Amino acid sequence: MIIYGSRMYGKRNVINGWGECEHCGVYGKNSSYNGRKWGHLYFIPLIPMGESVRVLNECKACSNGSHLPESDVTEVLRELRNDIQNALARLIEGEKNFDYHETELPCALFLANNIEVVKCLDDENLVDLVVAALKEKELHYPHHMVNGRLLEFQGKLQEAGTAYQQAATEEPDDILPITSLGAIYFKQKEYEAARLAYEKALESLESQERLQILGVLLSLYELQKDFAALTDTYEECLQLVPEYAQDKPFMKGYKKACKKVGREPVK
Ligand SMILES: [Zn+2]
Repeated sequence: MIIYGSRMYGKRNVINGWGECEHCGVYGKNSSYNGRKWGHLYFIPLIPMGESVRVLNECKACSNGSHLPESDVTEVLRELRNDIQNALARLIEGEKNFDYHETELPCALFLANNIEVVKCLDDENLVDLVVAALKEKELHYPHHMVNGRLLEFQGKLQEAGTAYQQAATEEPDDILPITSLGAIYFKQKEYEAARLAYEKALESLESQERLQILGVLLSLYELQKDFAALTDTYEECLQLVPEYAQDKPFMKGYKKACKKVGREPVK
């Protein structure tokens, strides 16, 4: 038997972490690295295929990840650094939002959502700069959020949960720490705690903003076999987006939930 195929060789600047895979949905280990795909024969690399890339969050379970040409990394990091510095500057001025490419964006949300990208692009200096600035300026809320994301990336879910709880104490009206906590409970299969967190987040949201959280709650109610709550949630989604009535998997789930709870689906 001849063994041939293609795989990544010459892995450099490897960063290992934990996260939820965008491709298979599994929560587990991943790695980010520089490398290049080569055609191989008996695992001896023979032919380079394509350019060198930075692979981001390659999932250990399904081997999928995002690829960025290695030649683009410097520019992507330059832009990220610029946006991060703008967000930090606004926080230091006592503002909550900053101007992100002509959109008003909460600084804490931006920093929390991008710190992992910076880490996976292997710019440890920038990670340290963000953490040190937030600490020095005593910007507790974004500091806890960023810490939480970094702890999650290290696979320390319990500690990340504590950081989000501290963030929630600082900003009780912000849903970011609450949904982040909900996601932690979900990953730990603590479904009742996750449900309470997401239901709490829902309280302060209106109409279309609710959809994303309703989607998570559909999975949670299904897991908990709470078919009454499941049916109600399907119906709220249908009210918000009537087009879901044309979505076969959605309607199949809805009708199944109605049957379980002995209710007629609404037309
Ligand atoms: Zn995966």
